Amino acid sequence: MKVALVTGGSRGIGRSITCRLAEIGYHVLINFHSNQEEAGNTLTLVKEKGGSAELLPFDVSDQAAVESTLGGWIDNHEETIEVLVNNAGITQDNLLMWMKTEEWTSVMNTNLNSFFFVTRLVLKNMLANKYGRIINIVSLSGQKGVPGQVNYSAAKAGIIGATKALAQEVGKRKVTVNAVAPGFIKTEMTHGMPEKELKKLIPLQRFGEPEEVANLVGFLASEKSSYITGETISINGGLYS
Ligand code: NDP
Repeated sequence: MKVALVTGGSRGIGRSITCRLAEIGYHVLINFHSNQEEAGNTLTLVKEKGGSAELLPFDVSDQAAVESTLGGWIDNHEETIEVLVNNAGITQDNLLMWMKTEEWTSVMNTNLNSFFFVTRLVLKNMLANKYGRIINIVSLSGQKGVPGQVNYSAAKAGIIGATKALAQEVGKRKVTVNAVAPGFIKTEMTHGMPEKELKKLIPLQRFGEPEEVANLVGFLASEKSSYITGETISINGGLYS
C-alpha cells in the first residue's frame, strides 16, 4: 500500500488533492482539525471513485497532538508515508498596526510551525526508503506580500525558504521538496472576497478551481517530477510571477 498524507485534506484545495492522490493509487490519510462532517464527505467521495483513504484528525499547530496522533500512526504501521502534502492553513487578516498577538501566533503556528512538526516526523522513513515527495502549499502572499496579511505572508514566505533549504538537505536520498503557490482559488477561504472586482486583475480573468491546484500537486507527487526540487511553482492565472 502506497500512503500519502494530506494535512487539511477535508475541504477546499485539500479535498481535491486527496481525490487526485487517491486516483493515482495512494491510500490517503485525510487530516483535518474539527470539521468531522466535511472530512466524512471527502472520505465518501474517495470511496465512491474506487479509491482508498482514512481520516486522521489532529491539530497541525499543536506539537503534542501531531506527535501522539501522527507519530502513533507511523509507529503502528509497516507502511510508510511516501507523499506528504502540507496543505492545512488559515488566515487571520488585520493591518499590522492593529494585529493582536493571537492573530500573529495562530497563523504562524498553523501555517509555519506545523510544517516543522509534521515534516520532521514523516521525513525519517522517506530518508530510510530513499524516496519521498514533500509538497508545501504556500501562497502568492508569501511571494509578493499582501497588505493586511503580514502574518500570513511571513508564514508562507517562511515555508518557501524552508522548501529550498530542505530540498538541499535531502536530495541525495531522492526525496524532493517543492512548494505550490496558488493565487485566488474558489474555497471557503476566499468565499467573502469581491470576486467580480478581483478577477479584473487576473490575466485569465477568473478565480482558479481547487482541482486545477490538485492536478499540479498530483504531478509533483508522481515519479514524473523526479528532477524538480526546491522550486516554488505559481498557479495564479498570471496574477504574479
Ligand atoms: P479551507 O479553509 O477551504 O480549508 C482549510 C483546511 O485546513 C480544512 O481542511 C481545515 O480543517 C484544515 N485546517 C485548518 N486549520 C487546521 C489545523 N490547525 N489542523 C489541521 N487542519 C487544519 O482552505 P483552502 O483549501 O482555501 O486552503 C488550503 C491551503 O491553500 C492553505 O494552506 C491556504 O493557505 C492555501 N492557499 C489558499 C488559497 C485560496 O485562494 N483558497 C490561495 C493561496 C493559498 P477543518 O475542516 O477541520 O477546519
